[in-house]
Amino acid sequence: MDGRQFILRVCLRGRMDYSGNMDKKIECIRTALVVGGGIGGMAAAISLARQGVEVDLIDLDPDWRVYGAGITITGPTMRAYRRLGMLDDIAEQGAISRRTSIFRYDGTHLQDMDEPAMEEGLPATGGIMRPVLHNIMQQRIRALGIPVRLGLTVDRLTNREADVDVQFSDGSEQSYNLVVGADSIYSRVRDLSFPHMGEATPTGQGCWRVSIERPPEQECGEFYLGHRFAVGISLCAADRVYLWLLSPHQRRRDHFTEQELFERTRENLAEFGGNAGWVRDNLEKAEWINYRPLAARLQPRPWVNGRIVLIGDAVHATTPHLASGAGMAVESAVVLSEELARADSAEQALQAYEDRRYPRCKDVVDTSIAVGRIQLEGGDPAQVGGMISDALHRLAAPF
Ligand SMILES: Cc1cc2nc3c(=O)[nH]c(=O)nc-3n(C[C@H](O)[C@H](O)[C@H](O)COP(=O)(O)OP(=O)(O)OC[C@H]3O[C@@H](n4cnc5c(N)ncnc54)[C@H](O)[C@@H]3O)c2cc1C
Repeated sequence: MDGRQFILRVCLRGRMDYSGNMDKKIECIRTALVVGGGIGGMAAAISLARQGVEVDLIDLDPDWRVYGAGITITGPTMRAYRRLGMLDDIAEQGAISRRTSIFRYDGTHLQDMDEPAMEEGLPATGGIMRPVLHNIMQQRIRALGIPVRLGLTVDRLTNREADVDVQFSDGSEQSYNLVVGADSIYSRVRDLSFPHMGEATPTGQGCWRVSIERPPEQECGEFYLGHRFAVGISLCAADRVYLWLLSPHQRRRDHFTEQELFERTRENLAEFGGNAGWVRDNLEKAEWINYRPLAARLQPRPWVNGRIVLIGDAVHATTPHLASGAGMAVESAVVLSEELARADSAEQALQAYEDRRYPRCKDVVDTSIAVGRIQLEGGDPAQVGGMISDALHRLAAPF
């Protein structure tokens, strides 16, 4: 069986996707508002609704879209999605793989990354196109009957004893037992209710991303290291991959025309071999190409104010170096529901959520920033590969 057949065949079915814990009923709250319908917000809405909470979900984007990149799904991220009962869909509509290989930038194979076995039947790594992942999660939201209001945000949040009074941007008002801020890196919930927090800090690197057809020879995830630019290619479907390239960020150049994106990406890949070279040689202007400067910040505690709590990039924004930002957001959603189901009071549950999540998210954010710094200083591939592998081993521990 070759690599492609393996990826197509390994679809995780039924019983492996189920975790009995997740469906334990939440008694200490009855209603919740989730602000932000991205990966973390949808995960929170799904897990809360599965455990009996009446959830409303709002998103600022009137069309509830997501941009066209791929996303790497690490083992820990798959484990978190399994807890939501969504791994089958991700495996079927994305791609999963046994390993990630590390190459010198010119295409010389150096080693395979030591990726931990997480749980019985869980693949080591994989990927999916973001719009496909969004669609899977949106379908689950609809299947659970969660009301979704779009083109909407919050203007005022007022904690009462066991409720939050919410004033929405369309002037309407409603009270909820819990408000979950999952509105990402420029979080409005954070601005309104967590004055001790601040904006994410630029890390000095930028990320070029390309979605393209799968190189014929590619069988697994790949890293290309030892160059001033770090490159990775993740399988995202049977016939699609996404390539990311991290470069030092040239200040004052955040935006590029389509032509510039195309030309700069090819120039950046000029010295690369292997499948990175294949992508350069086969790239066309019509492909989805994007550039984004990176920023990260682990927000200081507390992450809870009364009945308002933050999850995802709103509170633990990281860089792509461990490909774990989305995984952390989904884990945070799962842990929030678990603690609400376990505790006698919402206050205890929210404190337990913060206590469980802070050290793990700190590890991801700190390590990701450290890897980026070493890349900017021209660190050697073995050191970078080792740091990533060590971090993934730490993340294999139960969350
Ligand atoms: C270049 C790059 C590559 C990455 N690659 C990976 C990867 O390979 N693997 C991985 O695991 N992670 C990766 N990440 C990280 C990952 O994308 C994020 O950590 C994850 O999307 C965070 O989820 P979230 O729900 O917090 O935010 P988002 O997914 O960004 O969702 C936020 C949602 O909130 C909505 N919103 C925003 N403001 C408001 C408002 N005021 N009111 C209401 N709604 C609002 C938005 O419309 C959006 O729908 C990457 C990040 C970057 C920058």
